[in-house]
Amino acid sequence: MYHSDWHMHTMASYDAKTRISDIFAAAEQQGMTDFGITDHVNIPSWFHYLQESRALFDAHKRPGFHFGVELTTISGYQEEYDRKNGNILGYKDPEGVHPVALPLTEEELRSVQVEYVVGAAHWVLAPCKNIHDVIADFHRQQMMLANDPRVDIVGHPFCITGKYTDDDGNVTCFDDFALVPRHMIEEFFDALLKNGKCMEINRCFMNGAAYTEKLRRGYMEFVKEAFDRGIPITYGSDNHGPGYPDAQALVEEYLGKVGFKSEDFSMPKFRTY
Ligand SMILES: [Zn+2]
Ligand SMILES: [Zn+2]
Repeated sequence: MYHSDWHMHTMASYDAKTRISDIFAAAEQQGMTDFGITDHVNIPSWFHYLQESRALFDAHKRPGFHFGVELTTISGYQEEYDRKNGNILGYKDPEGVHPVALPLTEEELRSVQVEYVVGAAHWVLAPCKNIHDVIADFHRQQMMLANDPRVDIVGHPFCITGKYTDDDGNVTCFDDFALVPRHMIEEFFDALLKNGKCMEINRCFMNGAAYTEKLRRGYMEFVKEAFDRGIPITYGSDNHGPGYPDAQALVEEYLGKVGFKSEDFSMPKFRTY
């Protein structure tokens, strides 16, 4: 199913163990011809991780292998604090809804010749307990990503994990994609199309323990609809290692079932320097 993977972590991510040699070996076995590494940068003072990632990339350069980064959306207050202090020691979240920021500037991305940016939301940036409010806050962050010139791929949209409450105060989780209001999907698709961004299908939506089968199946319909609208879809394993498991059968089982084909996956548009 997949011949490319645009979201992979290496040892240069704080939470990953994969060696580039593991990726190359898996690419050979799984028929991947084009792929890129995207280590985490969560706050400005983590720029050194990107420099480590670049050094790993440079040591293993070869055709079809690309250099990306995964930037998370963060609180604008936290971004400002980290810029000023060089770390987030002593930072305390102010109350209320936080402005949405990305940790690196265009200049910083250019300085290490990043070829593409996966921009992704990972947590709420507002005081949310109710599942509908959480979905709305992810939507707010994803709209920022869909409109920001630094971002090439919006990574794992609506990657909502954890426990929240429903309108009756019962504990619930994001267990049904139908919880996402139609107008949010429309706004998101419109922004991706208008700005020429890719949307990612992340492997966590096929085998992540946080997601019910119902959520997974509904999510595949969402991805297929984005594709049918003309939004380029990139595959991202989000592999953190060790090793790189074969997910061909898994991707066939989930995306194949909604009519998605191998040739339907896109590559990001690479920045050139
Ligand atoms: Zn992520
Ligand atoms: Zn990731």
